[in-house]
Amino acid sequence: MHCPFCSATETKVIDSRLVGGGSQVRRRRECNQCNERFTSFEGAELVMPKVVKRDSKREPFNEDKMSAGILRALEKRPVSTEQIEQLILSIKKEIRMTGEREVSSEFIGNLIMDGLVQVDKVAYVRFASVYRSFEDIKEFGEEIAKIGQQADKKTELSKRQSKLFE
Ligand SMILES: [Zn+2]
Repeated sequence: MHCPFCSATETKVIDSRLVGGGSQVRRRRECNQCNERFTSFEGAELVMPKVVKRDSKREPFNEDKMSAGILRALEKRPVSTEQIEQLILSIKKEIRMTGEREVSSEFIGNLIMDGLVQVDKVAYVRFASVYRSFEDIKEFGEEIAKIGQQADKKTELSKRQSKLFE
């Protein structure tokens, strides 16, 4: 692999490890010429199913679009980049595991929500509120109440959330 800094052709691998539950190899590389270090990822390229939108239009699966939505929901939340990468990889894995040639955007939305609820409850609510475009604040409150029941009721967070919408 050429150096992205000086375009030298000789770079060496200084560290290599499996990430994403073994679906990717992350390599730390160092340029022999300018000594800059960079990271490369290697993963199998598998065909993702097409996405059927609510209006029945088909479009190719767009990872950037999905990641952008997830990142927006997780903005300023205490979730590590590693956890986010893991979440995105596991969602992609589930999409592939359907073995379908087409999946609905709703299906993907639900996978994202299932993933987010386990990583960060606030991010989940943010995503769900946009994704489901709640009809009114009551419905939004009900969703938060549901999360409150799932979460440990003793935590300050759920106490505050339920108070907020009483
Ligand atoms: Zn270089």
